[in-house]
Amino acid sequence: MPFELEPLFTIIGQAVVYFALFLFAIAVLGSLLIAYSFKTERFFFPGFMLFSITLLETLVKALFRFVGMDDSMVDDVGIALKNKISLRKFRDTPLNKRLIFFPQCLRATTCPSKLSPEGMQCINCGSCEIGAAKKSAEGMGYKVFIVPGSSFIRRLVRKHKPKAILGVGCMTEVKAGLEMCERLNLFGVGLVLEKAGCVSTVLDWDKFYEFIEFDEPNDIRPF
Ligand code: SF4
Repeated sequence: MPFELEPLFTIIGQAVVYFALFLFAIAVLGSLLIAYSFKTERFFFPGFMLFSITLLETLVKALFRFVGMDDSMVDDVGIALKNKISLRKFRDTPLNKRLIFFPQCLRATTCPSKLSPEGMQCINCGSCEIGAAKKSAEGMGYKVFIVPGSSFIRRLVRKHKPKAILGVGCMTEVKAGLEMCERLNLFGVGLVLEKAGCVSTVLDWDKFYEFIEFDEPNDIRPF
């Protein structure tokens, strides 16, 4: 009996090796495309790149590190690709069904806002850009929140039942937020802070206004 199974084990072994080589080839090709897209700020085979990032993120990042490159590039491209895919649907969503979330670290350190169940209550004191941005976005019909953490986001999403979300945050928060949107079947787009941290973080506000104001998704800079 054992020798009858031997050819089967050989075939299975070979299949595993070929499959591993196949995945490795996808990861290498995906990595090359990601690096090239990041450098040129243009997407090449976006579906394939997103597939390689989604399926083989750990391996793709390991390849970046192996050749001495910054693996955060993979997250940058992944977020930009997801934004590109969702932006049209985000903008097709009625404004009153879109929520915007700012992180509280983007406020001025002297911010006088008080915490409420809906997040920090901005009084538009003028000490940071959030006040003007919030006013402008709310004037268009968005609901805007300044939140201290992801538990607030989940609760506010349950309460306001949006169809689309624009989230601002550090790379990790935006990645998690976009994954949450995918799970909840919402159209999520994310803006990564230029400078992250616990306080005095920095956002590219021009990019924020591009996201909320323009009609043509191709106008958005990918990174
Ligand atoms: S504009 Fe709003 S968020 Fe910014 S510091 Fe003033 S109250 Fe705080």
